[in-house]
Amino acid sequence: MSHILIIEDERTIADIIVFNLEKEGFSTTVAADGEEGLRLSLRDGIDLILLDVMLPLMDGWTLLCELRKTRSTPVIMLTAREEELDKIHGLELGADDYITKPFSMNELKARIRANLRRVGYAVQDRPRRSAVKGLTVNPGLMQVQREGEVVDLSAREYALLTLLMENPGRVFSREELLSQVWEFDGFLGDLRVVDVMVRRLREKIERDPSAPEILLTRRGAGYFIDGGAQST
Ligand code: CA
Repeated sequence: MSHILIIEDERTIADIIVFNLEKEGFSTTVAADGEEGLRLSLRDGIDLILLDVMLPLMDGWTLLCELRKTRSTPVIMLTAREEELDKIHGLELGADDYITKPFSMNELKARIRANLRRVGYAVQDRPRRSAVKGLTVNPGLMQVQREGEVVDLSAREYALLTLLMENPGRVFSREELLSQVWEFDGFLGDLRVVDVMVRRLREKIERDPSAPEILLTRRGAGYFIDGGAQST
């Protein structure tokens, strides 16, 4: 079982992350300020660190610098949208990856798995359906292939597609997809963004986007992927 250290001072965000990761079989520890975060990150047995940038007592960049003097634990920075420049800064300082707030839990979990795999930790995965009608998902690489050809998907398209593929036959309403793929909670967005993304995804994954065979519509209910998928 992998142990994830979450260094995040916003309690609600930390709570949501803990809840979701523990549900997936990870164990977690939370630090609410930079000094405690650094102390805990230097302990043995931490497999991956989620590190917020703006923290009390010590910011995320300083913490990362200190950590890298002695440890190579994978670090995923949690950055705010406007901190575009900081991402580059973070990667130079030794962050392994970053994810921009607000992010979906699916996206976060996919990043965590990808980073843990990269450093060779065994990750506990729920058995998942990862192939349907010529479409296969490689969760380690966050990559989707259509009849052997790599399909170029955005992180959000990938998150939407894998959520549906992991739950074959289950119909997701547009509201559900908005809250799971676009935000943690209470996203008050336009439901049409879901339709737009589904259309874009179909253009990438379907033989004939106007007559989809993979990503299907249940009229008046939402979207789903056919339950006839095979496990791999
Ligand atoms: Ca913060």
